[in-house]
Amino acid sequence: MVDEAMRELVPYIESLPTQPAADLEGSAALAESLRADLPESGRPFGDLIRPLVREWARKGLNTAGPGYLAYIPGGGLFHAAVADLIANALNRYVGVWLAAPGLAQLETNVVRWFCGMVGYREGSGGVLTSGGSIANLIALVTARRTRLPERFSDGMVYLSDQAHHSIEKAALLAGFARDQLRIIPVDANLRLRVDALRESIAEDRAAGRRPFFLVGSAGTTNTGAVDDLAGLADVAAAEDLWLHVDGAYGGFFMMTDRGRRTMVGIGRADSVTLDPHKGLFLPYGTGSVIVRDAKALRRAHSVAAHYMPQMQDDPDRVDFAEISPELSRDCRGLRVWLPFAMHGAGVFRSELDEKLTLAHRAAAGIARIPALEMVAPPQLSTLAFALRPQGSDLATANARTRAVMDAVNTRHRVYLTGTMVDGRFLIRICVLSFRTHAAQIDACLEDVAEATRAVASGDER
Ligand SMILES: *Cc1c(COP(=O)(O)O)cnc(C)c1O
Repeated sequence: MVDEAMRELVPYIESLPTQPAADLEGSAALAESLRADLPESGRPFGDLIRPLVREWARKGLNTAGPGYLAYIPGGGLFHAAVADLIANALNRYVGVWLAAPGLAQLETNVVRWFCGMVGYREGSGGVLTSGGSIANLIALVTARRTRLPERFSDGMVYLSDQAHHSIEKAALLAGFARDQLRIIPVDANLRLRVDALRESIAEDRAAGRRPFFLVGSAGTTNTGAVDDLAGLADVAAAEDLWLHVDGAYGGFFMMTDRGRRTMVGIGRADSVTLDPHKGLFLPYGTGSVIVRDAKALRRAHSVAAHYMPQMQDDPDRVDFAEISPELSRDCRGLRVWLPFAMHGAGVFRSELDEKLTLAHRAAAGIARIPALEMVAPPQLSTLAFALRPQGSDLATANARTRAVMDAVNTRHRVYLTGTMVDGRFLIRICVLSFRTHAAQIDACLEDVAEATRAVASGDER
């Protein structure tokens, strides 16, 4: 089976650079053609895997391809697929230390490496999650159970209007009402306004409410903006708030010199979300949350049961089920551990550094197209731009910018998505795949220039 799978997968992966960046036509027909009842008897593996890899999987967005510059690209490092094959074939249980002390230790090493990247010291810890959304939820619940009483209807959460929507979702899931969220405005660089934050906190205190949780973004999904993390840490210290930094997109740029300069102060956060399936190029399904005081995770999540084995008291022996919502789960550590163990951190550092350089290359190219205006220059590896307004109303301007993006996407070399900031539609370029290099950025710039010319000449007619 593995040999047969490889015969399909190797050519598939080798052809990624020449596959279309997106292929959406006929999506519904494909999905319909695959509807099927539970089969009573089986078919040979080869008959299943061939159409799976050659046809069924190919519709939609080519998220693993080098031209995917949309949303937040990730990659799909093949080592992780092999690590998962091994982990799943072994099927050892890593939820409690005693069941798989070796595998639990490798996963604990990974978490410690992450802690080191943001500057956490002894006593810190964390857990690998399925993604950043669950990581943010764990951070919020941990803070709530550390800082608030059992009933917490006066506890207040502060985030910017650029924060990822998973924070709001986490708050709603964690039992907060919408009016316990304070959405703080941002400055011209789309960073949370520290002065407005201070005012909002003071107002809430004066009204007898209880400020406790502050979210900073280390790279927003919208435009890649990095909040003034040191400024937020000062406020959190003065006001006794739990500072959580959402670094799901940008956090791993801490491995680079430029990233460390941009994210000064991140190590003063009480908790940080990092998404290996973004910044470490791993396949979907690997996030993480790390906390400065590992004991807080255990206090927030530990619930006993008679049928469970003895949990560990030595802080070096981690029972993941004790410090997170999940009891049984996949063995996530190996897929992070294997590529680091095989290649070392240096490869990741230079790959991430290349992405920063590529984003600047993209920004320089956009700046050379007079009809375009850079709205959010890259702080990390994301930038956003729009057509310069021509005295037309906002709706028309937005439609023209959207037309540029659509025209780029119909060329299928790269795939871009947009966003709205202050009612203005922006085209985003996010560089984060290990498969993306200068060739894709240059193709993107060519296609953007061509599409911009086409939309502009349409205006003249
Ligand atoms: C992607 C992202 C998330 C959510 O992470 P998932 O892994 O998709 O659940 C949260 N915050 C930011 C800033 C993100 O970019």
